[in-house]
Amino acid sequence: MNTQFDVIVVGGGAAGLMCAWQAALRDKRVLVLERSNKIGRKILMSGGGRCNFTNLFVTSDNFICSNPHFVKSALKQYTQYDFIALVEAHNIAYHERDHGQLFCDGKAKEIVSMLQAECDASGVQIKTRALIDDLSVQNGGYQIKTDRAVFSTASVVIATGGLSIPSMEPTPFGYDVARQFGMPVLPIRASLVPYTFSGKLKEIFGRLSGNAIAATLSSGKTSFTDPLLFTHRGLSGPAVLQITNYWQPRQSVSVDLLPDDNAFELLVEARQSHPKMSLRNVLGLHLPKNIAQELLTLWFPELAQKPMGDCANRELRALGEQLNQWQVLPSGTEGYRTAEVTLGGVDTDALSSKTMESKVQPGLYFIGEIVDVTGHLGGFNFQWAWSSAYACAHAL
Ligand SMILES: Cc1cc2nc3c(=O)[nH]c(=O)nc-3n(C[C@H](O)[C@H](O)[C@H](O)COP(=O)(O)OP(=O)(O)OC[C@H]3O[C@@H](n4cnc5c(N)ncnc54)[C@H](O)[C@@H]3O)c2cc1C
Repeated sequence: MNTQFDVIVVGGGAAGLMCAWQAALRDKRVLVLERSNKIGRKILMSGGGRCNFTNLFVTSDNFICSNPHFVKSALKQYTQYDFIALVEAHNIAYHERDHGQLFCDGKAKEIVSMLQAECDASGVQIKTRALIDDLSVQNGGYQIKTDRAVFSTASVVIATGGLSIPSMEPTPFGYDVARQFGMPVLPIRASLVPYTFSGKLKEIFGRLSGNAIAATLSSGKTSFTDPLLFTHRGLSGPAVLQITNYWQPRQSVSVDLLPDDNAFELLVEARQSHPKMSLRNVLGLHLPKNIAQELLTLWFPELAQKPMGDCANRELRALGEQLNQWQVLPSGTEGYRTAEVTLGGVDTDALSSKTMESKVQPGLYFIGEIVDVTGHLGGFNFQWAWSSAYACAHAL
């Protein structure tokens, strides 16, 4: 068995496979060590099984990073159009959804097969079920001890991803390696994840479970208008997942249930046009009836049956404010169990933005989700995986 390599990539996910392939194209002897029994498992489950592999509208504003400029170089080196060209070269059919999101027409497996085929064709060796015991510096390079062999390499690329989906047995190995070499790791937490609630709100959301409406969710100065989904545990849907990237635990979130309207003005108009109609029925013209009923009962039970003509400006203004700026306080999130990503990670101050190489440990690279770069929902996390991997591979 060959144990000498130019590059060992730890982690056979999106970033690891892209990096391995690109490095091998540059005549590097490349080994991928993947802990689980198969490569690309997260790709397989992504995008509801259809993999939202990139987005037509990628800018640095779509990423959260303690250094907002960090992502720019990699995103420029390998763009969404480069990945689209790759997908097209492999005859993978795809389609565009809202906000420029690109999904496979068929299954996410096609993306894994594409990466596997490119790795095979360029001579990348892939070892699955590889359990790493130790990574150390040896003779100017690195030595990696696994349960089956000891490997030597000039460069190591850490592409072990984040901690979401515990059933996939993610590991903190990459964070530990960063710390081993004195590199800071910023606090991590589950993100792009549904909110949970307790008490009365949990009961109400449970009764509304399965309903979805378009809403604007805001945290601080950041807002997203997207579908909001009621669940048995709380709130989910794209609007919620997006805002969790910007939300801090124990903060409330502002929910605008009528994002296209000034709710107060709408109610004043309705008072004129439907003076005999009850407030509840008027609200039912603008929101699904069960949502209107539950919320009115929660906020202003005394107003529900009141005819519009009898409603005072003060009452309509208070209701309008609730509809446009409802402050909800989540008790938490569903955590890593259902999170799409891990926010935070290896501090970008310790990495070159051009190459992803550690500034303190030559020959050690970090790519993909393990880095303190988190994309918005919509294919941005994969684009970061492809771009950071490419930038790294072309520096190896
Ligand atoms: C349910 C779900 C749906 C998603 N859908 C989308 C989507 O549609 N679009 C999008 O852009 N993003 C999506 N994401 C996010 C996206 O999957 C990740 O951001 C992306 O996979 C990160 O790539 P990565 O290579 O850094 O990590 P991963 O793809 O997670 O790969 C890391 C690899 O490292 C391996 N590994 C871990 N520890 C070790 C170790 N100690 N030794 C060896 N190997 C190890 C893991 O087994 C894994 O194969 C989704 C995530 C989830 C959970």
